[in-house]
Amino acid sequence: MVVEALDKIEKTSSRNMKTTLLANLLRSTPKEVIDKVVYFILGKIWPEWMGMPEIGVDEELLVKIISKATGVKEAVIDEKLREVGDPGLVIENIKKSEKAVTRDLTKFMGKSAGSDTLTMEKVYDVFSKVALATGEGSRTLKINLLVGLFKEASPLEARYIARFVTGDMRTGIQDMTVIDALAIVFGGDERYEKFIEKAYYVRAGDLGLIAKMLAEQGIKAVENIKPEVGTPIKPMLANRESDPKEMLRQVGGKAIVEYKYDGERGQIHKKGDEIKIFSRNLENITHQYPDVVELAKTNILSNEAIVEGEIVAVDPETGFLLPFQELMHRKRKHEIHEAVKSIPVSVFLFDVMYNEGEDLLDKPLPYRREVLKKIIKETENFRLAHNIIVDDPQELENFFLKAIEDGAEGVMVKAIHNDSIYQAGARGWLWIKYKRDYKSEMIDTVDLVVIGAFAGRGRRSGKFGALLMGAYDEDTDTFKSVCKVGTGFTDKDLEEMTEMLKPYIVNYKPSNVDSEMTPDVWVLPHYVAEIIGAELTLSPAHTCCKDVIKKGAGISIRFPRFIRWRTDKTPKEATTTKEILEMYRKQLKKIEETRI
Ligand code: ATP
Repeated sequence: MVVEALDKIEKTSSRNMKTTLLANLLRSTPKEVIDKVVYFILGKIWPEWMGMPEIGVDEELLVKIISKATGVKEAVIDEKLREVGDPGLVIENIKKSEKAVTRDLTKFMGKSAGSDTLTMEKVYDVFSKVALATGEGSRTLKINLLVGLFKEASPLEARYIARFVTGDMRTGIQDMTVIDALAIVFGGDERYEKFIEKAYYVRAGDLGLIAKMLAEQGIKAVENIKPEVGTPIKPMLANRESDPKEMLRQVGGKAIVEYKYDGERGQIHKKGDEIKIFSRNLENITHQYPDVVELAKTNILSNEAIVEGEIVAVDPETGFLLPFQELMHRKRKHEIHEAVKSIPVSVFLFDVMYNEGEDLLDKPLPYRREVLKKIIKETENFRLAHNIIVDDPQELENFFLKAIEDGAEGVMVKAIHNDSIYQAGARGWLWIKYKRDYKSEMIDTVDLVVIGAFAGRGRRSGKFGALLMGAYDEDTDTFKSVCKVGTGFTDKDLEEMTEMLKPYIVNYKPSNVDSEMTPDVWVLPHYVAEIIGAELTLSPAHTCCKDVIKKGAGISIRFPRFIRWRTDKTPKEATTTKEILEMYRKQLKKIEETRI
């Protein structure tokens, strides 16, 4: 039933129709399995914020599994995959022809040919066992489990199981489509959409959980939903701007301006003595910061609270702020203990979303800051972000220059009017980031997604030498090529890159990649890297913003250089094509101004 619905949803391009079909499916789904059905539709075994392992089956392994399940040779499957570009359709077609043969045989032998359909529980049982398999023998176990599943599956079921394994369901269903469908089924009225949306933001974007709550308790489950200590909230994000006058205009004339620290965002949850820290991506990073846990325990005076701040590395000798990269030591398990001593951190707090039972999300920023001040005992390395209140652009600019001098990345300009709420999960104009990089040509970095790789030469032979990078186009939900980057990598980066990319390499162009340049291998969008260049240029070779500024040309980056991996960003959080267009237009404007 689920796969039939997905097939119909996939075939229509109308968003409304997709939503209606999805609503029909969810309406007839028993409440016991509705969470699993939602996770399945979104291609997830479990919600990301749980930090559970992924399925861990790359294309090479999937080909082997399909071969074992169907008896068709791996080389033949490889060939078909190159032709069709979709492992789902490949196995579906094989199974269809296999079924035709069985049907003839069973007819001949006088038996019925109907196959039992798989249950969602069974499918999820296998998926979780595959994901949890580790250590010796795990590869064989993964193969056997999935071979068993594919053998039992109907051709259509096999299509979606194969796609699930590759992480690309190709149905065009996004989180917002599920929210709309849930509002139709459980609210029966558009007004309920805003409650479900809020639930989505305050429950870590966990739609399986929300669907289950709605199915079990009805719409009242989300009507007055509040943040919950222990469940991360989707963070509020900022727009960028480079003209202080315009920033102040956007926020209504007056703003609180804070240092924009160059560290890692930490959402700190406190309940009694229990502390949890979540990253910008809602990943649980508590174990990386045992020192922050201690600071939070003693310096957050409330019993229950959710506060937000930037965790920044500091030089133990001088106390100066250090760049983000220094926090990388915290990512390696065996180095954490040592790093706590050699590279201590400071926490600069800037918001509070929940305090002692009070939901603060809809309260204006000045109110939230009052609460924050009251519940924090400020110390040298656990304190509020440095800030001023301004209404004068010149004063803002001076504060910005001071921030740079002090080792910050720039400043955050935040609205303080009555509607300055905490917009969980949204990038809006209530917060504006002003970074140093706008000062000259392209010193502003972009975060791009790896969509392909090129083999290296000379010293780099046998490894990858360059990457094809793309920007995210929200309108078409695709990644469009921007540049080929081959400089800025250290030997260690190059060494690690081959291993890192391996699970995501495919020999067909992924359906959500739009590129006219063909790399040596295609890479499923997964990794985000920060890139800097000399300037943005028009280029006929790339598809980002193609034909927008000039017919036949896209926007590219001249002399791009790799800076660092942005493991805290998902591909859809990379720089968008719209942002690149905006940056290009600003660059043009600047050039115009200097000409006059
Ligand atoms: P960037 O790559 O520029 O950090 P981003 O996409 O990660 O951007 P944005 O919303 O665009 O996130 O910029 C805000 C980020 O800046 C926050 O995620 C946070 O990590 C960091 N930050 C540093 N200081 C502050 C502050 N005082 N207030 C809010 N965010 C801050």
